[in-house]
Amino acid sequence: MDHSYEKTKEILEKAGIRPTSQRLEMAHLLLSKDQHLQADEVFHLINEHFPHASRATIFNNLKLFAEKGVVGTLEIKPGITHFDSNTKRHHHAYDEETGEIIDIELDASLEEQIFESLSQNFQEKTGKRFTNASLVVTLKGKKN
Ligand SMILES: [Zn+2]
Repeated sequence: MDHSYEKTKEILEKAGIRPTSQRLEMAHLLLSKDQHLQADEVFHLINEHFPHASRATIFNNLKLFAEKGVVGTLEIKPGITHFDSNTKRHHHAYDEETGEIIDIELDASLEEQIFESLSQNFQEKTGKRFTNASLVVTLKGKKN
């Protein structure tokens, strides 16, 4: 077991998930890099490495990981959930052309400014405050 497996095991245990070997392998593959995968893509990723893993088990584990916060979830288009391996607070850019989702890290004070200003604006309009704000920008056009 290398260092990162140890770390993955720790992440699962901290989340209250029993780190069976299959869950460990799965979490390790998912968390190995910043990625945003749909459930089917997760299945293919795991299946590529562990062809004998059952689809139902993979989906059950993925659901468990999402519930316990081992991976984040993101719905950029209605009805399409992406599982996000980056669980730190961040925002997203969505490339309409390629479907790619790119993480955006915002400076904390800038983030506060943006959301405070937006929140104030909405509170005036609707009387409601917003919480848990997350930004998605859409990228258009092609690279020259
Ligand atoms: Zn992300």
